[in-house]
Amino acid sequence: MSAKTAAQPPLPEAFLQRMQRLLAGEFDDFLSSYDLPAWSGLRANTLKVSLERLQTLLPYALQPVPWCAEGFSLSSGGQETPLPAPGKHPFHAAGLYYLHDPSAMAVVEVLDPQPGERILDLAAAPGGKSTHIAARLQQRGLLVCNEIHPSRIWELAQNLERWGAHNAIVCNETPERLASHFPGFFDRVLVDAPCSGEGLFRKTPASRKEWSLAVVQSCALRQSAILDQAARLVRPGGRLAYSTCTFSPEENEGVIAAFLQRHPGFQLAQIAVAPGLSPGRPEWLSPSAAAHPPGMASKLEARSLARIWPHLSCAEGHFIALLQRMDGTQPSLKTSIFPRSLPGESGKAWQRFAYENLRYELDAGRVAQVGSYLYALPEDTPAFGSLKLIHPGWWLGRLAHSARSGLPRVEPSHALALGLQPAGCQRSLPVDYPQAQRYLQGEMLAVQPGEEGWLLVNFNGYTLGWGKCTSGRVNNHYPRGLRTPAV
Ligand code: SAM
Repeated sequence: MSAKTAAQPPLPEAFLQRMQRLLAGEFDDFLSSYDLPAWSGLRANTLKVSLERLQTLLPYALQPVPWCAEGFSLSSGGQETPLPAPGKHPFHAAGLYYLHDPSAMAVVEVLDPQPGERILDLAAAPGGKSTHIAARLQQRGLLVCNEIHPSRIWELAQNLERWGAHNAIVCNETPERLASHFPGFFDRVLVDAPCSGEGLFRKTPASRKEWSLAVVQSCALRQSAILDQAARLVRPGGRLAYSTCTFSPEENEGVIAAFLQRHPGFQLAQIAVAPGLSPGRPEWLSPSAAAHPPGMASKLEARSLARIWPHLSCAEGHFIALLQRMDGTQPSLKTSIFPRSLPGESGKAWQRFAYENLRYELDAGRVAQVGSYLYALPEDTPAFGSLKLIHPGWWLGRLAHSARSGLPRVEPSHALALGLQPAGCQRSLPVDYPQAQRYLQGEMLAVQPGEEGWLLVNFNGYTLGWGKCTSGRVNNHYPRGLRTPAV
């Protein structure tokens, strides 16, 4: 038994045997789905653009994702002229959308973050769910985006920067250390767990080679350990969402059933029914299976769990559970506030920069200096003590010292540009499509220079980054690391 393969690795035989046993009559449809191409999608950034406007701006064929208000599936082909890949379009560089697997879009829909809340995305890189949460928060409240692996943290920071989130903190910590520092602090915590990735077999066929039953078992152990720490971070009455992109019952229903046994203060919360979301499969946890304590399956209700299947929806596959903390009566812990230091000279440098360049009101009390960097802190940012922070808020810029006067001056960050609309700066430079492409490649802007100073380069009214008009020319300040190579 094996699904069709050309140059790609075959589906693991042990995986197919298990899925055949579990899915029984559905198995043939499941297997046939591997003969079809993987779905891809994009999710609108409603911090920057409405859904209606995005649909009129983009040249791609978009189909709404039934379980996510901001989500679209992308259909390929059918166009007379080739289109730029959606990840290469200037609107992507402007942060109008995130390229996202439609299944993954269901997770934040279930988490349902509300503006003003404190949210923790515990396993956040590269930022799919974090950007979705940021859009739902609409710049109000606090979003802590954590990633344990230093090698993955910069992609997360970059994706949040492009998104234009003002209230996101990027952190590089272990779940244990976060839980010890922030017990009961968050209204909602998301664990989008590292998993055996069976839902990636169609999109990333190479991942088939990494799969084994032993990997499934070790992932389940790691997921349980992460969830135990996540539970400590949720306030009484708060919510904990758990998701994976795999099908194995051990990593899904099994992890949740065992969690409920260890944490009687939590219970499953209902997940709203939406087309394409299938119920969980608690019956797959055999009461006789040695790995699961007896009676575990009876604690789970199929409708309180969601599964997405490639043969039943326009997506690759996901599992989601939503838990609520029912125990504990104390209100959220009072934490100390992030130290706001802005020495006099630095404060003056920021004020001078803002006065000369910006048209955006930023509460001066929220600006803090960390090393040589300036940040706007989210409301009520707590102190992080010795936790490793990458960005404690909206990164505004870097303090550099003027060679002539010796006084500090502000070099604005790309994050500041991408968090502003063109009208947020005193000078802006609209560019057309070919100019936008050249700007994103790092070329000097061949335009008539205007008034000296920083300006926001924008395409169709959406900010791409900084330029600076100086000595009769406009210099390109699009970050070198983001520039697209010329074709
Ligand atoms: N939420 C991300 C998104 O939507 O873009 C995807 C997260 S990915 C499925 C799982 C993440 O868990 C990875 O970034 C991985 O580095 C992280 N991870 C791996 N081991 C971990 C651990 N022991 N504790 C916390 N996170 C871990």
